[in-house]
Amino acid sequence: NSNLTRQEKALPPIHTLPVEDVLKNQVLALNNNSLPISENSNDAEVENAFFVADLGEILRQHIRWKATLPRVEPFYAVKCNPDPMVLRLLAALGTGFDCASKSEIQSILDLGVDPSRIIYANPCKQASFIRYAADKNVKMMTFDNAEELHKIKRYFPQAQLVLRILADDSKSLCQLGLKFGASLDSTAGLLRTAQELGLNMIGVSFHVGSGCFDENAFADAVYRAKCVFDQASELGFNLQLLDVGGGFSHERFGDGITFEKIAAVLGPAIDKYFPPNIRVIAEPGRYYAAPAFTIATHIIARRTVQRDRDETQFVDMEGVLDQIHSEEDQHSYMYYINDGMYGAFNCILFDHQIVHPKVLMKGGVFHFGIDLDEPKYKCSIWGPTCDSIDCVTKNGTLPELSPGDWLYFQEMGAYTICAASQFNGFRKSNVIYTTTEPSVLRTLQ
Ligand code: PLP
Repeated sequence: NSNLTRQEKALPPIHTLPVEDVLKNQVLALNNNSLPISENSNDAEVENAFFVADLGEILRQHIRWKATLPRVEPFYAVKCNPDPMVLRLLAALGTGFDCASKSEIQSILDLGVDPSRIIYANPCKQASFIRYAADKNVKMMTFDNAEELHKIKRYFPQAQLVLRILADDSKSLCQLGLKFGASLDSTAGLLRTAQELGLNMIGVSFHVGSGCFDENAFADAVYRAKCVFDQASELGFNLQLLDVGGGFSHERFGDGITFEKIAAVLGPAIDKYFPPNIRVIAEPGRYYAAPAFTIATHIIARRTVQRDRDETQFVDMEGVLDQIHSEEDQHSYMYYINDGMYGAFNCILFDHQIVHPKVLMKGGVFHFGIDLDEPKYKCSIWGPTCDSIDCVTKNGTLPELSPGDWLYFQEMGAYTICAASQFNGFRKSNVIYTTTEPSVLRTLQ
């Protein structure tokens, strides 16, 4: 965008090393208090937790999507992780964007993305945000109730409407159907209302729920969407867009759900029910963002829990400590780290994630993904705030660690930084960028 000033164009540095090396260099730099790769080089808080974002992983996920689900155009769900470099890269790669609010729309338009590459995919919108969308010519938007149709009629009658229907989200970690989605017995009425108001219906969307672990949920939802397309054509609408929402796993291997398993069911279902002239889009968030971010945290304190400890010294409202520390003969540890449930690890609470701590540095020596050949101890890992809900791992097993050692957690890109608070005065963890893909560097520079 030629209107941007030099200042606005300035990008944070992007390293060209594997994630492991960036983690190492940063910890070494922090330990030496030299901070060569942090923007905050005058910051005395040298042991702050930090993220490493592997932008190459975003590119690899995009290539994988194109190869595996070629008919479906990804519209990245900005809410999942609105990191400016991730958005910039995806914009350059040509994805569309699913925005939920005015400021998300604004951040995408500021990248120079054409408004036709945005879907305002929030079925219940603030009136002034609809006016903003109208002003910026962001036409595609979802709805799932009659009141919203009247609102859209008033503020943006030319909008291109996508009816969000209810999908079976019982096989998903985060069920969205409680809040959004028109049931199939209400869709005909909604289509009639849209017709009476003279609105421009263009398609149908659904969301099987975030963290979906049954690929058949997608096929079932596609069939439901086809039924609504039929209802619409009986009323004289000629719908052109199917939006298959989010919920895509990023996993590649294993017995659990993988992206390939979903594609193997979803792709054929789309082809069975929708002729090639129907445009198909999706709103993946987690798929792109989760695998690209790793967080490193510093152990700021440790409490040793003796086997014969005095039970009464702990306030253990949830029975957490008993669960962790009771059965073994050996003592166990409570480790306190400098990001937690009120920060990036809010995903444990809001997104039902289970996080896996690994040792990054112990006693000044790096261990990246290496299973240390030394005694392991039961442990719990706690965030830095004064609240006892701030527990990251209740029952871990790790080698004996000490304050000053570092842990890292992989796959921390989805629904983490974006919902982090600064509760108790702890600030959000910074992001350091890297890529080993030369084309990412060329794209972003
Ligand atoms: N689209 C909508 C409307 C959503 O609400 C969400 C997540 O809540 C997404 C897309 C992204 O879902 P996921 O990150 O599971 O792909």
